[in-house]
Amino acid sequence: MSWPLSYAEPVFRPPSEAGSLILQLTVGCSWNRCTYCGMYRMKQFRVRPVEEVVAEVRAVAPLSSRARRVFLGDGDALAAPPEVLEEVLQAVRDYLPWITRVGIYADSRAIRRRARELPRLRELGLGIVYFGAESGDDETLRSVLKGATVASQLEACRLVLESGLKLSVMVLLGLAGVEGSRRHAMATGRFLVEAAPTYAAALVVTPVPGTELGDAIAAGRFEEVDRWGSLQELAWMLESMEGYRGPFHANHASNWLPLKLRLPRDREPALDLLREALASRNQDLLVPAFSRGL
Ligand code: SF4
Repeated sequence: MSWPLSYAEPVFRPPSEAGSLILQLTVGCSWNRCTYCGMYRMKQFRVRPVEEVVAEVRAVAPLSSRARRVFLGDGDALAAPPEVLEEVLQAVRDYLPWITRVGIYADSRAIRRRARELPRLRELGLGIVYFGAESGDDETLRSVLKGATVASQLEACRLVLESGLKLSVMVLLGLAGVEGSRRHAMATGRFLVEAAPTYAAALVVTPVPGTELGDAIAAGRFEEVDRWGSLQELAWMLESMEGYRGPFHANHASNWLPLKLRLPRDREPALDLLREALASRNQDLLVPAFSRGL
């Protein structure tokens, strides 16, 4: 029997959804304008016909009794109409009753648009929303064309959590370059405290050729933070995360010094380690460039 799910490649998912069954509910990202993001540039955003997705759920059921989680892609699947989301979640419930959690990528516009429907989606099995906030600094959000403000992103976080859903927020070290480094890092730490997501992760921005950020770097208009600069940003971020409670991970393939923390318990030891690395510039503390897996 051949695998019944078809994908418009490339397909992305959060690292924590590595073992999940991926259903491509939408293709691409409804925004697709962030200057640093090349993930969906080649895709014209569209919502797949719901009957096609439901047929895939039905067809994959006999082959996926070991799967425990489903992830709904692509970049901003929450932008699909609510009736489509409901029908797909209901199909997962009907045909894959062993699934314990459904996850989805969403940006702040989609979350705010779906505010009223979020509790119903949770009842139907949606369990976690992954949201790339990237920065808690308005100037940085403006400069990368995120199409959102700190206030609108905080509102999106509040709406998700008030619906009883788990919220995973990603932020990007290095997004404001050398020039805005400290401002971005400190504001982002404060943003995370206020947003109080279930999980938070800090990744290092990875410029992609062909994006506006990639072009700006090539033309010398944007000075990137180097590996030590990204550690410094992480230290500034942690310094401004007084009062934050919960898991905070900086152990993605892009991170130079992988940290998997539970705050507030691990905050001071992590700051000590970062300060030691910054003072010594000891390369042995870092992941070698060749094994970063990017
Ligand atoms: S909203 Fe997310 S997926 Fe869409 S362009 Fe921005 S970073 Fe990329």
